[in-house]
Amino acid sequence: MPVTHEDILRWLQRSTQVLHENSAYLTQLDSAIGDADHGSNMDRGFTAVSAKLASLSNADIGALLKTVGTTLVSTVGGASGPLYGTAFLRAGMASAGKQSLETPDVIALFDAALEGVKTRGKAQAGEKTMLDALIPAIEAGKQAASDQLPPAQVLQRMAVAAETGMKSTIDMVATKGRASYLGERSAGHQDPGATSCWLILQAFSDILAA
Ligand code: ADP
Ligand code: MG
Ligand code: MG
Repeated sequence: MPVTHEDILRWLQRSTQVLHENSAYLTQLDSAIGDADHGSNMDRGFTAVSAKLASLSNADIGALLKTVGTTLVSTVGGASGPLYGTAFLRAGMASAGKQSLETPDVIALFDAALEGVKTRGKAQAGEKTMLDALIPAIEAGKQAASDQLPPAQVLQRMAVAAETGMKSTIDMVATKGRASYLGERSAGHQDPGATSCWLILQAFSDILAA
């Protein structure tokens, strides 16, 4: 079954809910290696997204995701606002005009989001950022796509890989973002942005499985 416009709306609602529920946790992770605001940043951004969803019930998936991007850029600030904002903007561009997404469309959407984050943040794998959840997730997604799996199973594998990737940030030394100010002392802590990235992918997997 393809991912529908309605699925995307439910994904965004579920993400809003999960980021709200995990706001204190994400902020606690950010207090160890950053400035203790990642939870409130993501909660504020997605609450603003959620407030716009009702007016977007007729928009195609591309237009919907682009609005998510502009909303995050204008409400979140910090590092994660422009990064997640760019991710959703690029995802929207990759799905312009679409009312539903088959597996290759889902992969193209996430590939575009990843390119956006890389271009904007100039980071790569292993630098203890959200990319360390997103990159392995997309690799797993591509493998699942080559196995001809439907979107729900692709997302399920992506969420599992994102969680493993998120945990792999614990041992990493940060070389990008605020956590890099700590140098070696950033090791031993899980990256907040990799954690929010996993939560958002898990939310997508959960609504497709439901
Ligand atoms: P800020 O650091 O401005 O307070 P947040 O706390 O909301 O912003 O977000 C921090 C997260 O942003 C980090 O945990 C990391 O995952 C991500 N991040 C920071 N810099 C980069 C970058 N250059 N590329 C990708 N992700 C980054
Ligand atoms: Mg922060
Ligand atoms: Mg900040």
